[in-house]
This record gives sequence, structure tokens and C-alpha cells, in this order.
Amino acid sequence: MTLHGTDLRAESPTVPALPSLKNYVGGRFVEGGRPFEVRNPATGEIHALVHEADAAIVDAAVAAAEAALKGDWGHMPLAKRRHMLNAIADGIEARFDDFLEAEIADTGKPYSLAHHLDIPRGAANFRVFADVVAGLATETFEQDTPDGGKALNYAVRKPLGVVGIISPWNLPLLLMTWKAAPAMACGNAVVVKPSEETPSTTTLLGEVMSAVGLPDGAFNVVHGFGPDSAGELLTRHPGVRAITFTGETRTGKEIMTAAAANVKALSFELGGKNAAIVFADADLDAAVSGLARAVFLNTGQVCLAPERIYVERPVLDAFVDGLKKKAEALKPGLPHDDSVDFGPLISDEHREKVLGYYQLAVDEGATVITGGGTPTLEGPAAGGYFVEPTIWTGLAHDSRTCREEIFGPVCAVIPFDTEEEVVRLANDSDYGLASSVWTSNLSRAHRVGQAMEVGISWVNCWFLRDLRTPFGGVKMSGIGREGGVHSIDFYSEPSNICIKL
Ligand code: NAD
Repeated sequence: MTLHGTDLRAESPTVPALPSLKNYVGGRFVEGGRPFEVRNPATGEIHALVHEADAAIVDAAVAAAEAALKGDWGHMPLAKRRHMLNAIADGIEARFDDFLEAEIADTGKPYSLAHHLDIPRGAANFRVFADVVAGLATETFEQDTPDGGKALNYAVRKPLGVVGIISPWNLPLLLMTWKAAPAMACGNAVVVKPSEETPSTTTLLGEVMSAVGLPDGAFNVVHGFGPDSAGELLTRHPGVRAITFTGETRTGKEIMTAAAANVKALSFELGGKNAAIVFADADLDAAVSGLARAVFLNTGQVCLAPERIYVERPVLDAFVDGLKKKAEALKPGLPHDDSVDFGPLISDEHREKVLGYYQLAVDEGATVITGGGTPTLEGPAAGGYFVEPTIWTGLAHDSRTCREEIFGPVCAVIPFDTEEEVVRLANDSDYGLASSVWTSNLSRAHRVGQAMEVGISWVNCWFLRDLRTPFGGVKMSGIGREGGVHSIDFYSEPSNICIKL
């Protein structure tokens, strides 16, 4: 991997060289204030040092973005902008292995997962939005005027201006580009603040932007944390017109407060406590396989993962047995081991949180069907932040374990008896991101699928995404929709022109 920058420890002969990640501002890599460390969660070892952006760097990034909007980037014809987005996708693919290694080092996730999901989707996001902006239509109305004449109204889409992107650590490149690509496709200039846990692929993307000749300042990266750091500086910055954020609901509330000062537009993809429902008429093998993937993919660190699974009583035991077998077949370990399909949690701190819920569930009366602790691993993985895939039964629907987002490889299985009852239970949540219903009854599939109070309701599947469809949550899971034209609706401002004829 060739990350741009010098080694912050290069002056010490006793400390091994580590890549250092700089801020990317106005097309140049710039150093920051105090450095912070990034650990590989699969081993616990420090693998990179990062230059934290201070207020001067955030100011410079916003100024560079404003200058880009007034300069080459702002004046770039749509066809050339689309060409640029496709070139960025090509650039990611040309350095696929660098992105892959960077993502794996930051997240510890299995090689196969990053290879099939994170990096290809990072590139695909730019291609998809290059296409979406090609076919945009706007409204036109001819209006009768009071004097008996006519007026013609038509809307044009304009960029918002400088867009701040604040992204999480679970699918770092995928979720960041899911915002950067449509924002740039609409002609905005962006300042990205990646998660402090996973800064590497965003930094690499800066190198790609330079390599493809993106006008300076159209894409900027500032590194750091949330409060009292780059995240908060961005959300409070008067030059930033919009914040698009994916992360915890609690953080979303803080950003909302900070962004109120100059009434920034907000797009929020927040937390979830997703429900799955398995009816007795479902294809049980498919439900077990599908939901095992849903609960344990990326070690449960997927916002869409179900942590509550309601199972109709006649198939409860068979479902739990099947899910248990799947959980126990998962192999934890290092990312490059081909036999490994289960990675670590992102950090020691997050592992402590998840293990806290493992204990809480027991305190709340759970029967631990499998897992509930940490695996014993040897070699470098012994220092990693692994936990066991875990299944509980016996928890009350209204226990804290069943109401709060855990964000780990874990689910509570809860029996139900009637459709009416399970719809009520599934919807009884502060969150409303996604659901997954399993049934072979067509009418029920539509009825229950539509009754779910969520933004994304899957039936007989999970995580199946057409990138043109609306994506987002209701209740405390988010504000707004991303995907296809829904992203365009956020990242552009329709302005109406009214001409008296
Ligand atoms: P987080 O909220 O802790 O951090 C996300 C980002 O916000 C990071 O870059 C962080 O530095 C920054 N941040 C933190 N406090 C801030 C502040 N006060 N001001 C500005 N920025 C701040 O989230 P996380 O732990 O990185 O990610 C996990 C969470 O993300 C889970 O709750 C998960 O459900 C959610 N998530 C949601 C979706 C979705 O599409 N709805 C997708 C992925 C993850």
C-alpha cells in the first residue's frame, strides 16, 4: 500500500515505520495538529498514524471547496463531470488492491467480504450516479395569469454548495462514496470527515482524485474525531451548506443541534434495532440461511442487521437449531486466511460495549443458545477484538437488550402466535430502519411487508439493493432518503424560474 505522506515516526530509529495519513485540502496533502493512531482490529496493532485536522485546516478545506465551486469544478459541463465520476471509479478499480488492503487494515474484516462488497461498491457508487444525473428531468408548468395571459414555470437543479460528509467505520469506503458520488454528481464540492477508526480508504481516494485530474478543492478530506475535533468543526462551519451523516442516532442529535446555527440541510442515516419475522409457512432453510447472513455479516456491524427475530411458535425450535449451527460454523481469525469468515469488532471500546450487552442479556434472563463471550485465538489474532456470534432466547420483547442497538453479531429470538401480534411487536421500536419478513404466503408478504414501519422492508431476502431505490430510515433511524434520484433530491436545490409570456 502506498499511502501519501511521510512517516510521523521517521525520526525515531527505534520505532518501526508506519504510514501516516494526511488531510487532503485543495488538491494537496497537508499535515495537521496532533497525530492519532489507528489500530488493526484483527490484531490490535497500530498500523497507521493520522494527522488530525485543526480549525485552520477545516477552514482551509471549506475555502478550497468554495473556490472550486467558483472555478473549474463549478463551471464544468455535465458531460465532463460525468466523465470525471467514471474516471474516479476507474481509478479505484486500478488501485483495487491498495484500497482492499487499506480497508482490511482499518476494519480487520475478512478479505473476501471487502473484496466482494466494500471496494467494488465504492467504485460502483461513482458509476451509478454518473448515470443517474444523465437522465434527470425537471418540472415545467404553464400557468394562467390573472390578466388572462400565461406564464411558464420551470425548475433548474443547482448544487447546494459545500457539502460536509461525516461517515462511520462499518463500511467505510462504501458508505462514504455513497454520499460523495451523488454530491459531486450534482456539482457540489465536498469536505469528508471519515471515521477516526477507518481513515485509510478516504485518504487513498484523495490520491485517486489527484490522479484523475479532479479540479482542486472539489473533494477534500479532514481527519479527526467528532466533538471538539474535525467533525464538530465541520458541522458548525458557516461555509458548509449541508451535512450528510451516517452513524449513531445519538451523534445525529448532536449534529442536528450544531447544524441549527446556520440552518444546514441534513441527511441522516442513523441506527436501527431491526426486526425479522419468520412465519411458519416460510421456507425454513432459506430463512435460516438468510437470517444467519443478516445477523452475522461484517460481525453484525451492519445498520440493517436484525437484532430481534420473531419466529412463529411451531417453527421456533427448528429455527433456533438451524441458526445455532450456522453461528457455530463461523470461523474467526485474520482477514487473509481464506478459511476465515468472521472478523473482529472495530475496536476494544466497541467490544466492551457489545460484551456489556452480552452480560446484560443474561441479567435480563436470557438463555444463551450459543456464544456470549470471546473466542480463544492464537497468534496475532489473539490481540484482536473478537467476540463470539451469539443467540439468545427467553428475553422479554421490552427488555433493554431487545430495545437498544448493540451493533454486534447477536440476536434475540422471540416467539409469536399471530400476524397481528408480530406486526405490533416488530413496530414497537424507537427505530425504523429495515425489516426482513419470511413467508410463502403471497398476500401476507405484501400485507406484512407494507405494515412494517421502516424505510426498507425486505420479504424473503435481506440486503438486496437496487441502488436506484430509496434507502433510509423512519423514526429515530434517519431523515431523508438516499439512492438514485432520491440522493439527487437532497444534493441539489431545485430553483423555479417563472417567465411571464
Ligand atoms: P458514530 O456516530 O460514533 O460516528 C460516525 C461519525 O460521526 C464518525 O466520523 C465520528 O467521528 C463522527 N462524529 C461523532 N460525534 C460527532 C459530533 N458530535 N459531531 C460531528 N461528527 C461526529 O457512528 P459509528 O460508531 O462510526 O457507526 C456505527 C453507527 O452507525 C451505528 O449506530 C449504525 O447503526 C450506524 N449506521 C447507520 C447506517 C444507516 O444507513 N442507517 C449505516 C451504517 C451505520
